[in-house]
Amino acid sequence: MIQLDAEWLNYIDGEWMSGGAGWIDVTNPANGELLARQALADAADVDRAVQAARRLHLSGELSALRPIARGRMVQEMGRYLLDHIGEIAGVLTLEQGKPLWESRIEIEGAALYFEYYGNQASTVEGRSIPLGGGYFDWTENEPMGVSAQIIPWNYPVEMTARSLAAALATGNACVIKTPELTPLTNAWLARAAVAAGFPRGAVNILCGYGHEAGAALSANPQVNQIVFTGSVPTGIRIATAAAQNVVPCVLELGGKSAAIVHEDADLDAFENDIRWGIYFNAGQVCSAMSRVIVHESRHDELVERAVNVANSLSTGPGIDRNEFGANMGAMVSMPQRDRALGIVQQAQSDGAAIATGGTPVGNAGAFLAPTVVCGISPNDSIAREEIFGPVLSVLKFRSDAEAIGIANSTEYGLVGGVFTRDLDRATRCARQLRAGQVFVNEWYAGGVETPFGGYGKSGYGREKGREALWNYVQTKNIAMKLRG
Ligand code: NAD
Repeated sequence: MIQLDAEWLNYIDGEWMSGGAGWIDVTNPANGELLARQALADAADVDRAVQAARRLHLSGELSALRPIARGRMVQEMGRYLLDHIGEIAGVLTLEQGKPLWESRIEIEGAALYFEYYGNQASTVEGRSIPLGGGYFDWTENEPMGVSAQIIPWNYPVEMTARSLAAALATGNACVIKTPELTPLTNAWLARAAVAAGFPRGAVNILCGYGHEAGAALSANPQVNQIVFTGSVPTGIRIATAAAQNVVPCVLELGGKSAAIVHEDADLDAFENDIRWGIYFNAGQVCSAMSRVIVHESRHDELVERAVNVANSLSTGPGIDRNEFGANMGAMVSMPQRDRALGIVQQAQSDGAAIATGGTPVGNAGAFLAPTVVCGISPNDSIAREEIFGPVLSVLKFRSDAEAIGIANSTEYGLVGGVFTRDLDRATRCARQLRAGQVFVNEWYAGGVETPFGGYGKSGYGREKGREALWNYVQTKNIAMKLRG
């Protein structure tokens, strides 16, 4: 049995403190029970955090560290998370709903970001530029200063780690705004920063309402760079606020990603892609495989296999008596579950067929049965709207051009997939998909090393990989005239 503290505080300027906006109840989505209450920051608390980060930045203490030493501290944070994986995973499961084994995967993923970006700290090199006689010219990459990071509830630990590790490795001071639904686990990120020896002000972690603390953070004139992961409407608000201060931002927004399954695809292997692509984290993944566009000759077989995969999964609390959890846990909240259910019901009244699922599971808790929907037209709302739940939509195609047309027909463009044994076709389709990352023959191939981000309304800028490091630095050119 996991015992939680009753009250959880924000971590600002090296101190744990309550917030000017009161408290929010954090509940377990698997049964609706109250877990704890979390302090909520108001605009004044946000400003205090930003000032602490700015003070540290202006002191030069972080940027003066030898990058390799700073990188070692970043790596230490990852080790801290792994040392505390049992506690963090328990709390993550209780507040977010994912099974305990998935929480452990998330924390291991978070630790990997600290390992990777810690290793990269000394690689952000400038260059010398030949200008001809009498000049010496070079570039240096300086930290942006204060990095603001606004985090969603689907992967609260991993999403924070993704931006925080890269920002610290490049010498920035950070203010993190955690999600209201799942704020508790971020406490370990503050503790990790302390354990790794980062000075006060380097990592400030606060929870608050999006419209209050989130808005105050994104509009704060002392913030130098913003990373946001979340929904499109919020991304637009944040980018608008950032533009007022002429501050760059990275937006990682939603998706409606499609796998194109050709007639020669290996459907035995593809069952695994269905399992992970749409039912991992109960489908609450921005890069989930929410649509499968399959060649008409394999359609019926694929639907049958998808139904078998969905029906093979147990759905239930993330922590059960043997503390392991079901195959698929609760969604993050009842409103989120009901929204997904509503989209499925709408599809049914539009003429789609629910091949399996489409119903709540149990009487308490935000559970939705793993669902497969077919008989969908590309214009139906279920084929265009992000569901963010365990719902696979299956569509048919006859020609490659038609498949690409359907895949590219939404306003999103986060990831895509091509499943075929034909290398030419895989390459051609991968190039034609309008998406920031394309998986060939394995959904979620890639890793912390590979750049990730959206086309279209899925956002702009890249996280992960070496590309992300450039979000957190600004290039200075020094042009020198050599006299004598
Ligand atoms: P959301 O936009 O409602 O909230 C995300 C964060 O923004 C929260 O911390 C929230 O408090 C804050 N926020 C809300 N209003 C704000 C405002 N006016 N100003 C500043 N901050 C504000 O999104 P969500 O419901 O938490 O997450 C689900 C969405 O996130 C989905 O659309 C999903 O696709 C997307 N997502 C994208 C990625 C990615 O990497 N591309 C990853 C995870 C989630």
